[in-house]
Amino acid sequence: MPIREDVLVVGGGIAGAASAISAARTGASVRLVTHKKSTLRHASGLIDVLGFLPGSDDPIVYPYSALSDLPDEHPYSVVGENAVREGLDLFDDIAGDAYRGGHTGKNALVATHGGTVKPTARYPKGAAEGLASTNRDTLLVGFRSLPDFDASVACEHLAAAGAPFAVDGVQVDFPGDFRADAKVTRYAKALDRNETVSAFGKERPAREALAEAVRPHLDGAERVGFPALLGDAHADEVRSDLSSELGAAVYEIPMGPPSLPGLRLEDLLFDALDEAGVRISSGNPVVDYTPVEGEHRVKSVTVDRNNQRVPLHADEFVLATGGLVGKGITSDRESVSEPVFDLYVPHPEDRYDWWDQQAFGDHAFAAFGVVPDEELRPTDADGEVEFDNLRAAGGVVGGADFAAEKSGSGVSLATGYLAGRTAGEAI
Ligand SMILES: Cc1cc2nc3c(=O)[nH]c(=O)nc-3n(C[C@H](O)[C@H](O)[C@H](O)COP(=O)(O)OP(=O)(O)OC[C@H]3O[C@@H](n4cnc5c(N)ncnc54)[C@H](O)[C@@H]3O)c2cc1C
Repeated sequence: MPIREDVLVVGGGIAGAASAISAARTGASVRLVTHKKSTLRHASGLIDVLGFLPGSDDPIVYPYSALSDLPDEHPYSVVGENAVREGLDLFDDIAGDAYRGGHTGKNALVATHGGTVKPTARYPKGAAEGLASTNRDTLLVGFRSLPDFDASVACEHLAAAGAPFAVDGVQVDFPGDFRADAKVTRYAKALDRNETVSAFGKERPAREALAEAVRPHLDGAERVGFPALLGDAHADEVRSDLSSELGAAVYEIPMGPPSLPGLRLEDLLFDALDEAGVRISSGNPVVDYTPVEGEHRVKSVTVDRNNQRVPLHADEFVLATGGLVGKGITSDRESVSEPVFDLYVPHPEDRYDWWDQQAFGDHAFAAFGVVPDEELRPTDADGEVEFDNLRAAGGVVGGADFAAEKSGSGVSLATGYLAGRTAGEAI
């Protein structure tokens, strides 16, 4: 008997998870099929809704109020403010105590590992003590074996950005005999397990040894920021122990890949998928689809399982395969395309028009993606809906430059929430 669900979601990033959970909450049976790890392992784990308007350097204080200033083709304009709010409500419900920021409609200012300050809507609770708007003297701690975060450079940038507190930076050795190129996940594990390490001529628990390495540099700092590697499963406990040892608040600074806050968020989403009763098939790509004969509907998608082609049937489908990074949109020298359903993806004919000469200019490629109607069904070059039972969510939807606007996860949540809900309600 073929595998069949009410709703089938393709893609296991934040958009796919939001779609599947929101569809399951309508009472539909849902399967989520995903190939590889999502973009979250590269991302910071922050939930950006809207930090900047296109072409402006002024940080947005109230993201919901700024939605009406976006162009008509922007995904937020397509889904409307209610879907943005409800997508965030869904996230708050999933994240529970793990995230902060839900009490206000204002963006928070979070210092990044480069020393810039980023307006974001939700941040992991591990980052909460580090908000750049809070006026407390700060010590930033970097590790010599982790060149991605230079505490002194981050300090200079923060001071130049007008941070309202004194900030100092120090590079220390991570205590213990770790390989020079140890991964952040290895350090996190050592702190999680509080492994015994050899440091300062003594064997001692890793958390205590780390505090001892930092203590001489405190100089009255009221809070200490570390790169985000302070444990994984027991991150709260690691921060709390370090904070007691140092007599100062301790927080994590979101880092680049592999990003522990992003990986923790991925775990959180998959736990929520399990709880919602979503069936998950992972590790193999969806490579093709079969239409219902004579209708603008999808009958099934085809998964490539070690060269065996397995059809998965459903009544409604959500495409949440990500943008250029997730491989939901692909490009070669000639064109840009959507590889599963071969959906229409507008792009300038001439490849030299895909990007701007300026590094931070208006790059067309940044907004490549499918063009949805108000129900998020992808349309063709004439504006006609391609399939009545296919919706798109997240990075695969075009019209937003998430990196410039700081809107990535917000777009995924708003479109994921709406695509999943409407798919579930269509059953
Ligand atoms: C370096 C970096 C930093 C970022 N930082 C932030 C940030 O600080 N804050 C923020 O809000 N946003 C940030 N973003 C953007 C944000 O991460 C993305 O916008 C968001 O994660 C996209 O989610 P998604 O679910 O649409 O796609 P993805 O997370 O890319 O997920 C797509 C999923 O679909 C799967 N998939 C793809 N094709 C197939 C197929 N054919 N069959 C089955 N599965 C398939 C992929 O394996 C993947 O699991 C960042 C992005 C990058 C690249």
